[in-house]
Amino acid sequence: MIKLHGVSKQYHSSGGSFQAVQDVTLDIQKGEIHGIIGMSGAGKSTLLRIMNVLEKPDQGSVEVDGRELNRLRGRALREARRSIGMIFQHYNLVYNRTVSGNVAIPLELAKAARTERNERVLEVLKFVGLLDKADQYPARLSGGQKQRVAIARALASRPSVLLCDEPTSALDPQTTGEILEVLRHVNRSLGVTIVIVTHDMDVVNRICTRVSVMENGRLISTQPVEVKPNE
Ligand code: ADP
Ligand code: ADP
Repeated sequence: MIKLHGVSKQYHSSGGSFQAVQDVTLDIQKGEIHGIIGMSGAGKSTLLRIMNVLEKPDQGSVEVDGRELNRLRGRALREARRSIGMIFQHYNLVYNRTVSGNVAIPLELAKAARTERNERVLEVLKFVGLLDKADQYPARLSGGQKQRVAIARALASRPSVLLCDEPTSALDPQTTGEILEVLRHVNRSLGVTIVIVTHDMDVVNRICTRVSVMENGRLISTQPVEVKPNE
């Protein structure tokens, strides 16, 4: 589902250049919940952003759902990106729009017709259990509810992949458990392949099927995660 081959990325600044990701090759299968773990600065977030070409790799290829993203430009790239949802540690919601308004954003960008848009907004809000908050503004929601809005927005355009950058790092343990449950539901009921960047081994053990470890920009191992009892 996601194939990275020989991917590298260097950042340049006044202080010189920095190799954030170096020669990473990784094959993530359809239906996986794949964890990427490592210390702060290891290059996890950069690697995740390479998967939807938010960061363009200097070298290597990025294939998602059969499309080689690093070769696409303009409209073709925008369309391919619609099949890749993303969520963040700090939710990245638009605070002057309602919950529905936030979820509608990808549908508006895709120029979906109004009726279809409204139906889809309600459908994904129902899926994440936030139908009753449709007309509220995000500032009034709890952290867990904000992350559910972000998940609903990411799901609106029916992605095959969901990229999660530290999705629970701003949440307390109980809310973390609730969000992991929503992600598991997304994976199981919708068949969405999930990639989770985290520094929390507990998150990996609770939800991931495989885990990759990053260190100094390199991927140093990829292993299966033991099957969780009573799941
Ligand atoms: P992680 O997610 O593992 O904490 P990142 O991928 O965010 O690591 O960052 C890897 C390294 O690249 C860090 O040293 C970071 O400071 C640097 N870096 C990340 N983004 C940029 C950027 N836009 N410009 C310059 N350096 C960056
Ligand atoms: P905002 O103040 O967030 O901009 P709008 O009323 O302009 O709110 O709605 C933005 C988007 O959200 C529209 O694309 C609309 O289709 C969708 N939307 C708004 N309210 C609802 C609702 N109650 N049910 C379904 N979709 C809605």
